[in-house]
Amino acid sequence: MSNLKYQLSNFFKHKCAVWEFTLKCNSNCIHCGSSAGKSRLDELNTEEALMLVKDLKSCGYDGIALMGGEPFIRDDWYEVAQEIKKNKMKLTIVSNGLEIKEQIQKLKILQIDCVSLSLDGGLPKTHDYIRGVRGAYDKVLGSIKLLQKENIPISVITTVSKINFKELNLIRDWLLNKKIAWQIQIAIPIGRFPRDLVISRKQFYGVAMFIALNLKKYSIKELPLMGAHCFGHFSMILPELGLEPWIGCQAGRSVLGIQSNGNIKGCLILTDDSIEGNVRTTNLSDIINSSFNPKFCQYSHKINLQDYCYTCKMFKKCKGGCLGTRLALNSSNKPYCLRAIEKKLFKNESLPFRWKIDSKISKYKNLYQRVLLKENWR
Ligand code: SF4
Ligand code: SF4
Repeated sequence: MSNLKYQLSNFFKHKCAVWEFTLKCNSNCIHCGSSAGKSRLDELNTEEALMLVKDLKSCGYDGIALMGGEPFIRDDWYEVAQEIKKNKMKLTIVSNGLEIKEQIQKLKILQIDCVSLSLDGGLPKTHDYIRGVRGAYDKVLGSIKLLQKENIPISVITTVSKINFKELNLIRDWLLNKKIAWQIQIAIPIGRFPRDLVISRKQFYGVAMFIALNLKKYSIKELPLMGAHCFGHFSMILPELGLEPWIGCQAGRSVLGIQSNGNIKGCLILTDDSIEGNVRTTNLSDIINSSFNPKFCQYSHKINLQDYCYTCKMFKKCKGGCLGTRLALNSSNKPYCLRAIEKKLFKNESLPFRWKIDSKISKYKNLYQRVLLKENWR
């Protein structure tokens, strides 16, 4: 990406706060990065939550994603959601889809921008096993159908681990032609997810190829698919897998993480030693200005001279990929990065000519679809 393009994408980036609205949850997912189950003892009350929405708006955030735990469990979710819409901010609710039926009318009145549901298995027994709830697969599929019937925008998130790695095809088949945006991310060892269930780097590359091949095979209308931030960038073969060109980790930049007790981090997937303050004791704008101002941004300095990324020629643009993934996997010498994996496979950067051409074609096709069909995609 040219420098100008890089600056422009940075400038126009939407700012979104990802808010763990409560830690209480009616699922017990193996890969839960927050170890959700019971609420925190000191969660923000309704009044504090409403105030936080206004503060986020005045700090320039134009979107809020409520997640959990399970956000619909909180009795005041609708009141807070109304406040978000009243402030003309985009509202996404990330849910396990177990109790959507009761909320449909409220979601319609809200004109919610997106309900994101987790679908982690292509087979009912896999999804139920991962989510820790018998019947969860049938419920989430039922919720998706119900939301679609009511024309409420939906996306599906699949978190890939060694358990469901082989079922991506099945999930793809179910989602095909349903016009549901599908985001694939990898499970990382934070919260209660064990390290030994993390996919290997080889499998990681396999998932990236799965995304790339399906992006090529299906139009964005047939399968609006994307890789999450954790997917390596600047591959020498595969096209960009994310929705937008990668301009580096957005923790503390266009992304903000809020815990249910008001703790603020650059991104929710960073560990608690990245908490920069709490909105009960410090103004949100003060936390943002002191910790996330580009001049002092804590996260720019987390790469050591010894790290693999430091020697990579894409480092200035890439900034080492997803910070949360890198820290959780402690993978500074062997990053989960497509480019780094390819370098090891091919030893140098000269790829077979045919592959380069193929990669260019899919890049252009991708770009074309993303730009021209953006309205259908979102
Ligand atoms: S090796 Fe590091 S800096 Fe280079 S492309 Fe991969 S993640 Fe980015
Ligand atoms: S830590 Fe990862 S998920 Fe969070 S903003 Fe950075 S790239 Fe995105």
